[in-house]
Amino acid sequence: MLCGRFWRLVKPFQGEERGEEVVMPGAHLRAMREADAIAGLRRIDRLSLAIDSISHGLLELAWSTRCVCCELPHALLCRDCEEALPRIAAESACPRCGAPFGAVACTECWTADGQVPRPFASARCALEFNDASAKLILAYKDGGERALAPILARLLVEALEPELLESSDRLAYVPASSQALRRRGFDHMERIACEVSTLTRLERVDLLAANSRFDQRELSREERAENMAEAFELLEGIDELPRRVLLIDDVFTTGATLTAATEVLLAGGVERVDVGAICRVW
Ligand SMILES: [Zn+2]
Ligand SMILES: [Zn+2]
Repeated sequence: MLCGRFWRLVKPFQGEERGEEVVMPGAHLRAMREADAIAGLRRIDRLSLAIDSISHGLLELAWSTRCVCCELPHALLCRDCEEALPRIAAESACPRCGAPFGAVACTECWTADGQVPRPFASARCALEFNDASAKLILAYKDGGERALAPILARLLVEALEPELLESSDRLAYVPASSQALRRRGFDHMERIACEVSTLTRLERVDLLAANSRFDQRELSREERAENMAEAFELLEGIDELPRRVLLIDDVFTTGATLTAATEVLLAGGVERVDVGAICRVW
């Protein structure tokens, strides 16, 4: 597995789909059943963690670490860029959707028609989505900088109130679709969830599966909204669902993804879902 440093060096010579060049030959994947293929990709993703750490030292000699925001050497996110990130203060954020303005409810959660229904009990988002936070997320998801996982997890944890962490029974994450898993070779939120779990001691569980028929790219806006309702399903073989779940994702835009995932958990028997996201598009 090549590290992100290499991807950033070679990306001028690669197309948008450079992430396709990972993990398993397509013909072999097609020959496997869908579920087996996804399980295989996830196993390989975990193996790649070990390979990453071995290759890291060698690649560091050839291509030194650079800040994903400003390209200064020696750190993936330099101190100045980290301090300049647009953090969302809890005191001024909308408690229902994590938007940066609206300490009671923002203009997206409270319209002229009344309160916009959201199935999750609360939402916290760590950063406003701007150039810097977009670079961070993209470098991690699509630029191969997997070493950003602990940094992104820490930024998210810093935004989550201790009471929320204490009152949650388990940590769950929005899983990648099978298409995204193939394209990137790893489930970006699964890794973030592992890091968040380590930082908070909140136990991580795999609760959701992305529906393999779900692909938004070819759909119109209306079709996307309709399709989203079928985006997720509960993983098979779960004996007992936790009572209160903290569900995390990378970016909260309209909230449609987190809404769909939350509704599946609630329909399955989870009593309460709170959500957390690294970035809030506003
Ligand atoms: Zn920097
Ligand atoms: Zn809101």
